[in-house]
Amino acid sequence: MRLVLVGPPGSGKGTQAERLVTKHGLRYIGTGNILRDAIKRQTPPGLRAEPYLKQGHLAPDDLVNELVRELFTGAECPNKFVADGYPRTVAQAVWFDKLLAGLGCRLDAVIQFDVSDEEVVRRISGRRLSQTTKRVYHVQDRPPRVLGVCDEDGLPLVHRPDDREDVIRERLRVFHETTDALVAHYRARGLLKVVPAVGSPDEIYDKTMAQLTPRT
Ligand code: AMP
Repeated sequence: MRLVLVGPPGSGKGTQAERLVTKHGLRYIGTGNILRDAIKRQTPPGLRAEPYLKQGHLAPDDLVNELVRELFTGAECPNKFVADGYPRTVAQAVWFDKLLAGLGCRLDAVIQFDVSDEEVVRRISGRRLSQTTKRVYHVQDRPPRVLGVCDEDGLPLVHRPDDREDVIRERLRVFHETTDALVAHYRARGLLKVVPAVGSPDEIYDKTMAQLTPRT
């Protein structure tokens, strides 16, 4: 399985990537993590990427592609990987196709986790966090026993600034701006599988596996 996952924030994409890694031994390729690590270590790519990440913009294609190339260098094409957050643009997708072709392999599928903008806003804007216990609640889906306080330590829950509706809508705008073309690119290549990202993580995982299993 050589997979790419695509989906907006709050689609459960990260959770599904974790499951694919654990259950199928896929190698995880997460450019967000790689970039954050490069910034922490203040490497030359990290220093260049830092202002983009700080402003919530995409890092330049050539920088991200180069980091991905390093992951694949010296190795044969990995038989099993799941890319989460890469490619993010059509230019990255075209470049990645070429990188894989040069290694003598290709992607098997691109999974799009499909969820409406309104549901994303509902999921993220309803999140409430405990700063001490790190427990995550949701005002409708997983409410605390007492409104606004953590079940464990009774301290007030926090509504993170980047979980606010206007911030989420801006992230969704940026997401659609680049991803709609990316999805069209993969659809045209016959690689796109759409998974409705509603229901429990188990249900979404089952739907994902059903899409990846050839029908007889
Ligand atoms: P993520 O953890 O995937 O949400 O990524 C965090 C941030 O890293 C994004 O907001 C971008 O600034 C940057 N980033 C991650 N992956 C890419 C990519 N493939 N292309 C450009 N920027 C990226």
